[in-house]
Amino acid sequence: MIRGALWLVQVVGEGNTFTKNQLREAFPGVSQVDRRIRDLRDFGWVVYSSAEDASLLAEDQRFVKMGVPVWDPKARKDAAPQKAIPSKDRQAILARDGYMCTLCGISGGEPYPDDAVMTAVLAVSRRTVTTEHGHEKVVLVTECKRCRAGHNDAPIPASEAVAAALELDSRDLRRLLRWIERGRRGTTDLDRAWATYRRVPTDMQGELLDRIKMAE
Ligand SMILES: [Zn+2]
Repeated sequence: MIRGALWLVQVVGEGNTFTKNQLREAFPGVSQVDRRIRDLRDFGWVVYSSAEDASLLAEDQRFVKMGVPVWDPKARKDAAPQKAIPSKDRQAILARDGYMCTLCGISGGEPYPDDAVMTAVLAVSRRTVTTEHGHEKVVLVTECKRCRAGHNDAPIPASEAVAAALELDSRDLRRLLRWIERGRRGTTDLDRAWATYRRVPTDMQGELLDRIKMAE
């Protein structure tokens, strides 16, 4: 894993793509070299395949962002991947969150409005939130990979967020306060309807549209 990490940083470089063949040629005789690269994701490394970035060919992967410097034994120990979340819990969290990212609200497989070639891949992760009594607790939340990797957006002054909150009607404002306290976005009836629609097979979506319009 360490050699794979160094190869990504020194040879591939952040933002660049590599093929499975290049990976195998760089590590002749090393078995499951693909998996060693995948294991880096547990340490916050972001590597996209064509499933996550539609601009990539099937054999291509993109090294998006470096994570924990795994070659540093202390950093690696501090960041040792926490126990995997059991799939039963993961399913329950995904269902609770309406199969939507609790940060940006995108649903699984949906293209990002500001980036048409990227479709959202959802994962369940641990997030530390501060409760109203100032305690820290770890909660399980659904996040898309893009939110998980962090945004490069410039920070926004608090006054702008306050102004945006005060634009809301009282029902939405109460909802926003709940989301802030919980550290995750909740789902609204509208979100649930949208997420449910997205899970209907594509060839049946037309019929669904007719039925909704008729009932309207
Ligand atoms: Zn997101």
